[in-house]
Amino acid sequence: MPQPPSRNPDGPPLIWDAHSCLPLDPAADIGMLERHRLAGTGFVSVNVGMDMNPVAQILPVIASFRRQIEAAPDQFLFARTIGDIDLAHATGRLAIGFDLEGAMPLLERPDMVPVFFDLGIRQIHLAYNRNNSVSGGCYDEDMPLTALGHRVVEAIGLAGMLMDCSHTGHRSSLDIIEHSPSPAFFSHANPRAIQGDLRNITDEQIDACAARGGVVCVNGIGRFLTDHAAGTSAILDCIDYLADRIGPRQVGLGLDYAYPDDGMNEFPFGIDRNYWWPAEQGYGVSGLQGVKCARPEQIPEILEGLDKRGYGDPDRRAIMGLNMHTLAASVWPEGTATLPGQAP
Ligand SMILES: [Zn+2]
Repeated sequence: MPQPPSRNPDGPPLIWDAHSCLPLDPAADIGMLERHRLAGTGFVSVNVGMDMNPVAQILPVIASFRRQIEAAPDQFLFARTIGDIDLAHATGRLAIGFDLEGAMPLLERPDMVPVFFDLGIRQIHLAYNRNNSVSGGCYDEDMPLTALGHRVVEAIGLAGMLMDCSHTGHRSSLDIIEHSPSPAFFSHANPRAIQGDLRNITDEQIDACAARGGVVCVNGIGRFLTDHAAGTSAILDCIDYLADRIGPRQVGLGLDYAYPDDGMNEFPFGIDRNYWWPAEQGYGVSGLQGVKCARPEQIPEILEGLDKRGYGDPDRRAIMGLNMHTLAASVWPEGTATLPGQAP
């Protein structure tokens, strides 16, 4: 059986960005993701909703993003399967998947998981910074996964969605990692030993994730790095720390780059930003606005930086994409079908 292009040691490496953000507005132009493609990215998971976004907002966002992906078949491909990602990588296109940041859009119904799966959601975490009825969030009182949370984790495993633990509280994340039917991972979270923000994760979380076969993807947001300007060397420092601790085959990248929203209305009217991004945790009055983040254009610099820091080619390829490719291939349902009009 021929090797998929992502495994070709002579071809370009597959770059997998486990999480970035478009404005959560159906009017957002996803053409801006061309920057990811031009930086050599093969797959990016984009957020389509967080705990503070109502389903009535999330569904039109999904509809709009899907329509726009399908209208640009020379640049983009809607990623439902690993086969889609391999096809995009082989043809110089960007495969785009969707993720949810928080369980509140599930409306306390585990049976909403397969519904969102059918809409294209391929990864989810259960709480966005704050506790909810399912799970604890990282900026709230530490709490275990609830009974409903256990049922949601079960449903996520059954659907074949990636179980993410970013933004999640300490105890809940450890419960999720222990009970998830498939290996849970962190799509964008940095070691707290490097930078002490509560949004970053402890060695206990890192070790537990790795012990069950998960991947920890380094976050490019400056406030979670030692360099608030999100310089490449600070990202490489996080990769070094993780590679030393759990080995390079369980480390990945989730830039968390937020494309400029151009004044769009991506949050519900009257949202309490101080609740979701608390001032006592160092956030300003405008929440995440003005926070610096690593740009997609830094991806080639990260690859080059790994080379300079002595990582061999197989480890560089693993960190930049293959580790997440392997994890997703083991979690997502099999299949190589592509949508009409997406053939090379
Ligand atoms: Zn996030």
